[in-house]
Amino acid sequence: MNVYLCVTIDSECDKGAEWKTQKPLAFAGVREGIVKRLQPLFNRYQAKPTYLLSPEVIAEAEKGDLFAGLSGSYEFGAHLHGEFIGPNPFVPDVTLDFQCNYSADIEREKLRNLTSLFRDVFGNRPTSFRAGRFGIGAHSIDLLSELGYMVESSVTPWVDWSEKGARDLNHVGAPTQPYHPDPRWPARPGKSSLLEVPITIRPRVAQRLPFIGKIIEPRWLRPTWGTVDGLRDVMRDEIWDARTRYGAHRPVILNCMFHNVEVIPNASPYAATEDEASKILARLEGVLAFAEREGIKCIGLSDVLSVLSPLH
Ligand SMILES: [Zn+2]
Repeated sequence: MNVYLCVTIDSECDKGAEWKTQKPLAFAGVREGIVKRLQPLFNRYQAKPTYLLSPEVIAEAEKGDLFAGLSGSYEFGAHLHGEFIGPNPFVPDVTLDFQCNYSADIEREKLRNLTSLFRDVFGNRPTSFRAGRFGIGAHSIDLLSELGYMVESSVTPWVDWSEKGARDLNHVGAPTQPYHPDPRWPARPGKSSLLEVPITIRPRVAQRLPFIGKIIEPRWLRPTWGTVDGLRDVMRDEIWDARTRYGAHRPVILNCMFHNVEVIPNASPYAATEDEASKILARLEGVLAFAEREGIKCIGLSDVLSVLSPLH
């Protein structure tokens, strides 16, 4: 069908209500969430997820057996929650930092430290990246390219974060299919060699209206909320839109995101109970089942490069 699905999972230490970090740091969202719940589900559908690892997860993996028992096909990429990596690291009550608010020097140091920690622990460089809180800025794309990243996935089309504490973080108007970004304005197409793979987010009808459009939540391809029917509609809508814009020959990329900590109880704001966690997993399974039925292959974020390579 020439459509591909990426499932990209921000992977972090255990949190809780209002995203409060559990102290001391805990990793049931990795040991149970990734190893025992998510990866076996992906394996049943021969799907290749991408786990984007926050610094504290990589540091924990350095100590030993965090990912013991993980088998099948998957990609590890990097995810920056800047509080957890030097310069000046600390364990935050809530991860609030947007990397676009750091000076270029601090952002460079944090990305460099995250990348070398990843390489020390896993033996290879990460090639895919997502910023914590989707907070890439005017320096991020060039810094990531310098460090060898090839795919970036922080752009959230139709979402304006500028009133959440990051003045220029507005992704309204960004393409919903992969593109080469403008390094100064990552939500716009430009000349970077890095490939931006935006998260699949579709507007609601009223989104296009002035004023009202700003306060309406668009539809995310995210199993955290909603129904399997709703998620299927988002996928169909994006496929239709991409076909209309680019024609039938260009492969369509869908990018579904959520967090590892959502699939176990009490580690995120979204699942306080086992029942709520299993509903999120069931919606994810609905996405994978739809993809299987429609002949949509689930690939890693960095695999998007080779799928789109004739376009480069
Ligand atoms: Zn995150």
